[in-house]
Amino acid sequence: MMEQAIIAIHGLSKTYGSLKAVDNLNLTIRQGEIFGLLGPNGAGKSTTILMLLGLTEPTAGTAHICGLDASRNPIPVKRKVGYMPDNVGFYNELSALENLKYIGRLNGIPENEVENTAREMLISVGLESAIHKKAGTFSRGMKQRLGLADVLIKRPEVIILDEPTLGIDPAGVRDFLELIRQLNQEQGITILLSSHHLHQVQQVCSRVGIFVGGRLLAEGSVETLAANLFQADPHVVQVTLRNAFKASSEELLQLPGVTKVSIADASVEISGQQDITPEIVRYFVHKGCDVTGVQKRTYGLDEIYQRYFENNLKDKEVHNEQSTGLFQRSFLSRFKKR
Ligand code: ADP
Ligand code: MG
Repeated sequence: MMEQAIIAIHGLSKTYGSLKAVDNLNLTIRQGEIFGLLGPNGAGKSTTILMLLGLTEPTAGTAHICGLDASRNPIPVKRKVGYMPDNVGFYNELSALENLKYIGRLNGIPENEVENTAREMLISVGLESAIHKKAGTFSRGMKQRLGLADVLIKRPEVIILDEPTLGIDPAGVRDFLELIRQLNQEQGITILLSSHHLHQVQQVCSRVGIFVGGRLLAEGSVETLAANLFQADPHVVQVTLRNAFKASSEELLQLPGVTKVSIADASVEISGQQDITPEIVRYFVHKGCDVTGVQKRTYGLDEIYQRYFENNLKDKEVHNEQSTGLFQRSFLSRFKKR
């Protein structure tokens, strides 16, 4: 795959009054990537997307997409870039096919081709059995598929999906992401998607950017980010014993890759660079200790994300600055920790 920059964002900012919705964003997305723009509600994801499409004017900076300056060439951008907003709307009384033919005509597809093209798109997104069903009867997952067909009909080079997995059940999310992956692999379409659910989209993204309070905190493959975050000892095993552990930590520290051992009565926590859970268990058994529990804690971005966004901030319309500050502090403290 070509490594050419298809989206190039330089110093992009957008302020609404005193609020910096997007704050000096720099980001490059290469052709053929699936990039995940991840962050909690209010992070500035949609604002960034709107600027990329030339639908809202940046306060500062530039956004180029397919070689075009988005704010100067919104119409050519619209031709090359498929955009699925977070609330896709259809004519509920019309069938999937009729809706899509309508979109096809709007996109200048000739009348004698529009039906075939529309059918082809519906099949490619897995809606063949629902072609004649009214869009109004569609589930959220089906609507997202129809939205995708709607975006694909103009055969775009890039597709931008704003929160495409919102409101779909877990199985639907998996299927939808699999579809995205297929489109990317079979047709080489570059995909930018936004989400506030890292755990949903991380498998499908070749790279992610963590976006909070208008700023990009980190960017890279999920593996790279996780490795950066927990560089020294990514694997932690907590062993619970029946009785207090009396020996010193010396021997445990001799095990391969072990960097840290902390003992608190009958609970021993072993941190290391590799997952050596079997060796650890064997050690305790050889020592004659009764092991009552073994818990592995692997830290990933997913875990952090879930912890800070989905538990602490769940459905709270927390003041933006507050939630951002909280996340930024914990996130950065993890970077600095070791
Ligand atoms: P996200 O898509 O990540 O949830 P948005 O880009 O929608 O975030 O919003 C970022 C911030 O900008 C939020 O605080 C939001 O309230 C604010 N914002 C977005 N659009 C407007 C607007 N048109 N006018 C004023 N504030 C806005
Ligand atoms: Mg949004």
